Amino acid sequence: MAFNKKERDIFKDELNNIRNAGIFKDERIICTPQDSEIKVEFPAGAEKKSLINMCSNNYLGLSSHPEVVKAAIKGLENRGYGMSSVRFICGTQDIHKELENMLTEFLGTEDTILFPSCMDANAGVFEAILNEQDVMISDRLVHASIVDGIRLCKAQTDTYKHSNMNHLEKKLQLHSDKRLKVIITDGIFSMDGDMAKLDEIVGLAEKYNALVFVDDSHASGFIGKTGKGTHEFCNVLGKIDIITTTLGKALGGASGGCVSGRAEIVEICRQKARPYLFSNTIPPVVVSAAIKVLEIISKNTDRKDKLEKSTEFWRNGLNEAGFIVKDGESPIVPIMLFNAKLSQDFAQDLYNEGIYAIGFFFPVVAKGQARIRTQLSASHEKPQLERALDAFIKIGKKYDILKKTKEEIIEIYGL
Ligand SMILES: *Cc1c(COP(=O)(O)O)cnc(C)c1O
Repeated sequence: MAFNKKERDIFKDELNNIRNAGIFKDERIICTPQDSEIKVEFPAGAEKKSLINMCSNNYLGLSSHPEVVKAAIKGLENRGYGMSSVRFICGTQDIHKELENMLTEFLGTEDTILFPSCMDANAGVFEAILNEQDVMISDRLVHASIVDGIRLCKAQTDTYKHSNMNHLEKKLQLHSDKRLKVIITDGIFSMDGDMAKLDEIVGLAEKYNALVFVDDSHASGFIGKTGKGTHEFCNVLGKIDIITTTLGKALGGASGGCVSGRAEIVEICRQKARPYLFSNTIPPVVVSAAIKVLEIISKNTDRKDKLEKSTEFWRNGLNEAGFIVKDGESPIVPIMLFNAKLSQDFAQDLYNEGIYAIGFFFPVVAKGQARIRTQLSASHEKPQLERALDAFIKIGKKYDILKKTKEEIIEIYGL
């Protein structure tokens, strides 16, 4: 116990540095279920405010769906609360296998292994299947959990410029002597909402004998004709060797992740992946609810269709009003403001207008690329989106950024 003034000050200084840099993260306290409209208490102790939620990953609106909640309760009653074990000792129930099989069927792969989270799936998979003779070639904008997974693996590493296929090809040529080459990408990139060029990536993988890894956390359940993900959208079903994804976004939003793909790769994860071997199994209540989620979205594409309609309305509305909106095929719709302080002021004004969205700036996105990232949900109703759009336009007018070019906005606010 040597937590004296000196030790405490080390941490206090670091926290002050974070505050002074303007990147201190406060938690907004929500006191309702997750939904398109939530009640938020911010700052803590302040009056609760009702807000339209434009920043959740609840893409299909299933996080608080009555049927999902009912399935969770049933799972709780039939299979108990906790398993008190990792999977391979005494933590695998019939429903865990059922969910793995359903994910395999849904994603169109050969086999699936559940992990406590997608972060854990990404942390475990590379180290389990690759060694020093192999190379991991990743897009420069992959998710932080992939970056960590790569760090934990002894294989060689390289990167290619974001979605730059010429650069990727050069790297594949450079590493032609390696035992295994793995191309690593997100399916949908979370900050821009853009999609990996999976058809071209698969083409290059075939030409240079590489494996393809896709993290489809921001796509599983709602991208592609039947919502299987970016591999369905890009017509490369069955050609992605390793898919990781999360149950924590569109697929119920609770927690859990998986590695799905080639049967032998999944089996090696069962033998060797450390987060699978050494972290607790997903609780039955979550597994039961996730099974229900897959049942709901396999029945029809109603939720996905509604999400697409809402996204179109939202994108068109913002574009017509004169905002600079990042193009893309996903329900992630970033509104570019470029200046960091402007993104924070804009978000605060939105909050005052009853709209909940977050401003992102460096280091979460590149310098001079500050933005408000909005995300659509199948739980949004048209009047809510109309209200949100009105608020955006009102604030856009206040800051005089409508129908302005990037250069004009930067001229007013700087970078
Ligand atoms: C959200 C996300 C994760 C983390 O998923 P969890 O299941 O919450 O750990 C991993 N990868 C990507 C691309 C994500 O967007």
